[in-house]
Amino acid sequence: MQVAESSAFWIDTHCHLDEFVAHGGQEYADGMRAESRAAGVGLCVIPAVERGNWSACRDMAHRWGDSYGLGIHPLYTSRAGDGDVKALALELERAAAEGDGRLVAIGEIGLDFFVPGLDAARQEQLYREQLQLARRFDLPVILHVRRSADRLLKHLREVPVQGGIAHAFNGSLQQARAFVGMGFKLGFGGALTFERALQLRRLAGQLPQDALVVETDSPDMPPHWLYVTAAEREAGVPQARNSPVQLPRIAGVLAQLRAMTAGELARVSTANAVQALPRLQPLIERAAHG
Ligand code: ZN
Repeated sequence: MQVAESSAFWIDTHCHLDEFVAHGGQEYADGMRAESRAAGVGLCVIPAVERGNWSACRDMAHRWGDSYGLGIHPLYTSRAGDGDVKALALELERAAAEGDGRLVAIGEIGLDFFVPGLDAARQEQLYREQLQLARRFDLPVILHVRRSADRLLKHLREVPVQGGIAHAFNGSLQQARAFVGMGFKLGFGGALTFERALQLRRLAGQLPQDALVVETDSPDMPPHWLYVTAAEREAGVPQARNSPVQLPRIAGVLAQLRAMTAGELARVSTANAVQALPRLQPLIERAAHG
């Protein structure tokens, strides 16, 4: 197991690495990325969340030999300006003209009906406009799904795209099947490391093997071994930051739930990530030999 894990090639399909620079500075972020690479995380997908971090995500992907997505996240739709979708189109045009192979998706986009105070109509408008961009630029999408699976699927039926990843998936088996039927893979991460996450763990064990990709969603979604409870935080214990360094251990929990070896899961989830985000393929080859 140890040998298989250390020689495995993992893709963290969802990590907001620009936040590491914002929190700890460039040197800290560089160190974290080097450590995660040594742990087997050969490639990261860095999704952007709003116009203001598009260039940071792009720069980071190029600096570290990783990949990125560009988009407007549902939680940022209230601060998005009316010109931001147009600006996104211009960025995508520029990336295409420059042949930027590290841009692998439109994302993170989607709908969030959990966080209170967001304008649902505004979210749906921006989601739909970004699905249209995905069609125009022939790109997959990275979806944020929170209490919104059915609504996301409804728009996808009306504005079909080539597929992508429904990240941090936590819906029903039926919803999972609907996404898979539309060319999506489902992202699993730190949430399934909690023993009380019974439904999610059952889903992760039940889905067909070719439906799964792994992610950390770092710096959010800490696995249980990093999780600091509210009581501990009150007592002064700082909230630990999740990072791609944790991916092999998180994936190890998923492998156990599916009675696979970590090495097998690394191979399968990497192949699935490429199916969802085809532009990863040449980047994997470069990362594996670089
Ligand atoms: Zn995210």
